[in-house]
Amino acid sequence: MKNQTGIVYSDLYLDHETGGHPESPRRLTAIMDGLVDRGILEDLVRVDPVPAGTEEIGLVHSTSYIKWVEEMVNRGETVLDAGDTVVSAGSYEAAILAAGGVIAAVAAVMEGKVRNCFCAVRPPGHHALYDRAMGFCLFNNVAIGARYVQKRYGIERVLIVDWDVHHGNGTQDTFYGDSSVFYFSTHQYPHYPGSGSTGETGEGAGEGFTLNAPLSSGAGDEEYLRVFNEKLVHAMDAFQPEFVFISAGFDGHRSDPLSSINLTGEGFARLTSVVKGIAKKYAAGHLVSVLEGGYDLDGLSDSVGEHLLVLSGG
Ligand SMILES: [Zn+2]
Repeated sequence: MKNQTGIVYSDLYLDHETGGHPESPRRLTAIMDGLVDRGILEDLVRVDPVPAGTEEIGLVHSTSYIKWVEEMVNRGETVLDAGDTVVSAGSYEAAILAAGGVIAAVAAVMEGKVRNCFCAVRPPGHHALYDRAMGFCLFNNVAIGARYVQKRYGIERVLIVDWDVHHGNGTQDTFYGDSSVFYFSTHQYPHYPGSGSTGETGEGAGEGFTLNAPLSSGAGDEEYLRVFNEKLVHAMDAFQPEFVFISAGFDGHRSDPLSSINLTGEGFARLTSVVKGIAKKYAAGHLVSVLEGGYDLDGLSDSVGEHLLVLSGG
């Protein structure tokens, strides 16, 4: 089926310059070149990102933090937290366009322009907290998208599947007390940022709506598939999401320098298939996938290609 899958991309995402940092503009160049080389891009619908406003980013972050990020960037600061979140002159514009890219993807899906959409955006988002940058992340793109689809389109139950190799502490924190957004994460453990044990299951009204599946070094495709099929599919039979997001980090790839979880491009295709099946069963296929990590350029490019072939398949 053609023209059912969208892609969000802008050259402005390359203006978030990070020097010799692993989270570099070359990641997006590798992804887009790979999609051209494999003949995948021509079948995707381009969805243009629009910068998110303070009201939209403010669904997840404090107004004072949003202003602080803008001021720090305008002032020429180069580091936003203890050391690993690097910024440059173009970083604020890139960051609000990354969040706005997810919002544009949500709108394209909800308005029937596409069935699902991949957001090739940066900086990534899932470590970003209410009032703090962390782990290469400025604003929590997926969390903003989840709140947006609820507020703008009246969606009640949202699933976020986070298969980035690191635990998405920022996303978990955003929805920890909330029963309307189910957060599922697989991640290498113990590993950065340290959170994501099985005992972290939500609190108050949100108890039972956070599901962490920490995995050991070397887990690989089959173990991931088992966890997805047993834990996630089972949990969704009860939750029945109306909209699905993927925090799509590809840093669990076996070539990735930041992990040793040993996934393959084909493994990411199979995980995509499981999540797409959940979206199809409960959410009319409505799914937005958002790039998080992935630092080996060949592994990243291959994995995104496999991911998109499944998303755009019939
Ligand atoms: Zn990661």
